[in-house]
Amino acid sequence: MQKLPETAVEYERIDGRKKDELRPITITRNFIRNAEGSVLIEMGNTKVICTAMVEEKVPHFLKGQKQGWITAEYEMLPGSTNTRKSRDRNRGKIDGRTMEIQRLIGRSLRSVMDLKKLGERTLWIDCDVIQADGGTRTAAITGAFIALHDALSGLLEKGVIKEMPITNFVAATSVGIHQGEIIMDLCYEEDSSAEVDMNMVMTEDGEIIEIQGTGEERPFKKEELQKLLILGEAGIKELIAFQKEKLSI
Ligand code: UDP
Repeated sequence: MQKLPETAVEYERIDGRKKDELRPITITRNFIRNAEGSVLIEMGNTKVICTAMVEEKVPHFLKGQKQGWITAEYEMLPGSTNTRKSRDRNRGKIDGRTMEIQRLIGRSLRSVMDLKKLGERTLWIDCDVIQADGGTRTAAITGAFIALHDALSGLLEKGVIKEMPITNFVAATSVGIHQGEIIMDLCYEEDSSAEVDMNMVMTEDGEIIEIQGTGEERPFKKEELQKLLILGEAGIKELIAFQKEKLSI
């Protein structure tokens, strides 16, 4: 029998996006009435509510230091995942992933803040995933920044603080290698079968706050890392441009 010529199969993403394309993004500000800052961020099917609330005290270790603090909590609703995610409180402990993510969110936001300008108060950032489809931590960071900005603008308007403590914009995205292709902003289906998965948090100036890169299926080369970094930086630049548009800055 005659062998058919092999044809190269075009790489196609599950949702039809280009390799370097972010998912459609929407940010709805003032989503929760009681919080000083609040947004609903949607990156494709991933949806996260981020709030920023002010507490007029600092943790014990900062008392008398004339500076403020930012801390973050992250959670997924039971109905946010394909199979019901049981609430941490019913298991008697916070799972490691939750802890890792909330510390990442807190660190990311603190790194673009002059905490002295905040005075002795704490900003609580709460990120609640209402629908998860990959990239919840990165969406949480991008959205929480807007909630934080809104909360601080409110404090500034009221004269509670004299200067804006934010020193830079920050946003985050995931990038990865899937079927040998370098791709932007992985959805769950891509994330769960990716060879390499990387979360990137960066400032507007392209400075790195955190990179979490893992060879899930295989080790990856420095040259691949370089390509991932270039793609991730482009995505973050796009996200920051969107944040600025939302804030009319
Ligand atoms: N996920 C899930 N249940 C879990 C944890 C994760 O269904 O308990 C899904 C969810 O869609 C999440 C994705 O797996 O967005 C990727 O999870 P990962 O831990 O990589 O974090 P993320 O990409 O959301 O920051």
